[in-house]
Amino acid sequence: MQKKEENEGTNMRKKAEREEEKAQKKAEREEEKAQKKAQREKKHRARLEQHVVSCPHCGKNVLDHMSECPYCKGVLVPAGYRPVDPEKFKKIKLACTIAGIAVAIAVVVVIFVVLR
Ligand SMILES: [Zn+2]
Repeated sequence: MQKKEENEGTNMRKKAEREEEKAQKKAEREEEKAQKKAQREKKHRARLEQHVVSCPHCGKNVLDHMSECPYCKGVLVPAGYRPVDPEKFKKIKLACTIAGIAVAIAVVVVIFVVLR
C-alpha cells in the first residue's frame, strides 16, 4: 500500500517534470519567435529610417517621398524628384525629334526599295 503511494508520487513528479519541460520548450519557442519578430521589425524600421527626413517647416519626421507634410501641410520636395533643367529638356526633345524623323525616312526608303 505504501509502495503504491510512493509509486504514484514518483509518477506525479515525473509527470510534473514532463509538463515543466514542455512548458519550458514552449517558452523557448515563443522567445525565439518574439526575437525573430523583433529582428524583422528592426530591419523594417532601419529601412524606413533611410527615408525619414525632418520637415523644413515644423521639424517633425516625415518620409522623403512625401510632397506635403502630414503635420503642418507644408510643401516638401520629394527625394528623387529633381525639376528637369529646361535647357536639357529642349535638347532631349530635339534629339528625340531628329531620331524620329530619321526612323521615318529610313522606313520610307525601305518601303520604296522593297516595292520597286
Ligand atoms: Zn511639417
